[in-house]
Amino acid sequence: MNSKTLNRFLDDRIADLHKHGLYNEIDVVQGANGPVIMIDGQEKVNLSSNNYLGLATDERLKTAAKQAIDSHGVGAGAVRTINGTLDLHIQLEQKLAQFKGTEAAISYQSGFNCNMAAISAVMDNHDAILSDSLNHASIIDGCRLSRATIIRYEHSDIKDLRQKAKAAIESGAYNKIMVITDGVFSMDGDIAKLPEIADIAEEFDLITYVDDAHGSGVTGKGAGTVKQFGLEKRIDFQMGTLSKAIGVVGGYVAGKENLINWLKARSRPFLFSTAISPADALASTEALEILMNSTELNELLWENGNYLKVKLGNLGFNIGNSETPITPCIIGDEKQSQEFSKRLFEEGVYAKAIVFPTVPRGTGRVRNMPTAAHTKEMLDKAITVYEKVGKALGII
Ligand SMILES: *Cc1c(COP(=O)(O)O)cnc(C)c1O
Repeated sequence: MNSKTLNRFLDDRIADLHKHGLYNEIDVVQGANGPVIMIDGQEKVNLSSNNYLGLATDERLKTAAKQAIDSHGVGAGAVRTINGTLDLHIQLEQKLAQFKGTEAAISYQSGFNCNMAAISAVMDNHDAILSDSLNHASIIDGCRLSRATIIRYEHSDIKDLRQKAKAAIESGAYNKIMVITDGVFSMDGDIAKLPEIADIAEEFDLITYVDDAHGSGVTGKGAGTVKQFGLEKRIDFQMGTLSKAIGVVGGYVAGKENLINWLKARSRPFLFSTAISPADALASTEALEILMNSTELNELLWENGNYLKVKLGNLGFNIGNSETPITPCIIGDEKQSQEFSKRLFEEGVYAKAIVFPTVPRGTGRVRNMPTAAHTKEMLDKAITVYEKVGKALGII
């Protein structure tokens, strides 16, 4: 029985979302999340997942997960500090440190949770955080939770970052200052200017935090954006997720031993929430093993990404300035973007419209996420549908 106040609140707000076309009807995927998915009993070419390497359904990961269930059961049993740290978690963290080229690593239950945990374990209300204006929601919330002063700098604007870093230092108002950025920005597919950011950090002694959720498995031949630029020794926090290219679920920070020890002692989701399951831990370890031993899946991902980009660009779509396989088709108008996505769906292509407030007003788009698991036939089908719908709606 909801209170009257709660009912009024919910009914008003939900009606408001409907009125503005912002209420998202969530589709149910019937079966596995692969390059082709089943929705409402119909097959769709799936261009909406973050399963970049197709590992979510990889046989090797499935075998690892089953093995872990047989040997360790389905749950960790307690929070890590009490008695929920399994040998599988330690194994995963050692593999993560190796993967990222750092002394140590700590795993969390998700990437979102990891940003909640790690930022506020180090930063507090006497500190400031320089944050890129297009940073992910979990970074924004993690920063807020820390109660540090948040100083937004213009997206990838190095001059603005430097000015604001200088002003923050000269104010003498803060004990510590951090600069935090996505490694790859997921809506446009552009890469953060990490070498320049590392230089500014060195000049002003800033703490550096890179969230490479969309970079790991993708950039740097799979090792991520920090490694792509050879900055392993100059970035303090290499944060990532096990839920995107790695194909499973979870998050992590890789860094120096003292940082990881501190996070194990003080980050609250580590201390007060049960760790990922044995199956998640071993499947993730297997994924890292695959990534470190072969660039085959990574190469396929880039090949498919480039194929889709060239074809959609040649058809006349505005595909923006992506530097990764992420391929937006920028349409502009929010309603038209949604209509476009709906028509693609009817024709058998699943590519979601992304509109304000996720991206700035007037830059509505349909975002395509090709993966290593797509065949050329699947991509060709999608491209044919794009051409048909694009022409029908007067977009190309
Ligand atoms: C997806 C994403 C996260 C959250 O990761 P989950 O493991 O899905 O919780 C964090 N940061 C960025 C930049 C992301 O894109």
